[in-house]
Amino acid sequence: MEICSSCGSIAPTSNDSCSRCYSPFENNRVQVVPPAEDVQMVRLFGGFTCRSCGSQVALNHMTLSGYLCGNCGIQQQFDWELWQQIVEHAHNTADITGFGQPEFADESFWRAFEEKQDEDIARMFRSIGRDKSTLTKGNSYFGGVAFEIDVTPGNPLCTVCSAPLQPRLHENGLLLQCETCEIEHVYRKPSDVPYNGLVAAAAVEHRDGAREVTVETVSSGAAAVIRCPECSGNLDVNTLGEVVSCPFCSASVVVPSRLMQQVNGKAVPKRAWWVAFTGKSPWRIEVEDELGRQTLRRSRERAEMERRRRQEADKAIRDAEKQRRLFRIIMIILALLTAAVIVAIFLV
Ligand SMILES: [Zn+2]
Ligand SMILES: [Zn+2]
Ligand SMILES: [Zn+2]
Ligand SMILES: [Zn+2]
Repeated sequence: MEICSSCGSIAPTSNDSCSRCYSPFENNRVQVVPPAEDVQMVRLFGGFTCRSCGSQVALNHMTLSGYLCGNCGIQQQFDWELWQQIVEHAHNTADITGFGQPEFADESFWRAFEEKQDEDIARMFRSIGRDKSTLTKGNSYFGGVAFEIDVTPGNPLCTVCSAPLQPRLHENGLLLQCETCEIEHVYRKPSDVPYNGLVAAAAVEHRDGAREVTVETVSSGAAAVIRCPECSGNLDVNTLGEVVSCPFCSASVVVPSRLMQQVNGKAVPKRAWWVAFTGKSPWRIEVEDELGRQTLRRSRERAEMERRRRQEADKAIRDAEKQRRLFRIIMIILALLTAAVIVAIFLV
């Protein structure tokens, strides 16, 4: 699979630039090999509308405990009913497009896909890597909320050197490693997400061992105080990024987006993050069941044809045998008649 060397999204063969980060593909494509283990990754980018004020709330990590609206400050529910649609769609996309996409020549897979889903959806899935990179999952006001999230297959890149990271399964989730910089991070699966195929969410919030800053909210109106979880040092609010190195003890601490919002009062912009899956997606299971049924049906038809062919061949052999026997009898009768004639002539 070829990916964009600026953002890691799949680089469609017939496109000139990346639809995700707008980088031109000229000198900007990099070939990545499938991971050694069964890990499929997709990049997510999206958000939902706040039920209270209608502004956009970023979905930059995965939790079932809700998201804080940066505009009205009201906590918004975004529960499993909604996440499940995104997670299943992301798993289908990861498994059926990108590395998982069956060779373009494998028509039987797509025919079975069309039978299970529909032609338009199959066409969209097939176009990933050819002239499209993203399958968007949107929903208008399901459960009182509208969301839209872009799902793009690809491979995450090292934030330091931009090399494609090597994904590996890890006992705590997923290990993403840069061989060039010798940097590695483990990302966890959100503990409250009940989906077996999900390996991990590769967003800062889910990084293993990352310690969150502590926030002291002083009296209303006053700015909150952010402290290092290691040394309790007072961190400068204005320089806060997602990952901060403490100037006092140099510990690497994470500022989750909900806290960033709480601290500087600004809505967190949408940012791209990755999720990793393993095993077959719901749609691949359906398509393979369909392919299995088709194979069974075809082998039954073949067996039936073979049985009929053999029956006909047996009948032909029996007919030929009958004819031979008849011929032999006729010949014997003829011989007897001839003999009788000769004997009669002799006697006369
Ligand atoms: Zn890109
Ligand atoms: Zn709001
Ligand atoms: Zn690197
Ligand atoms: Zn510190």
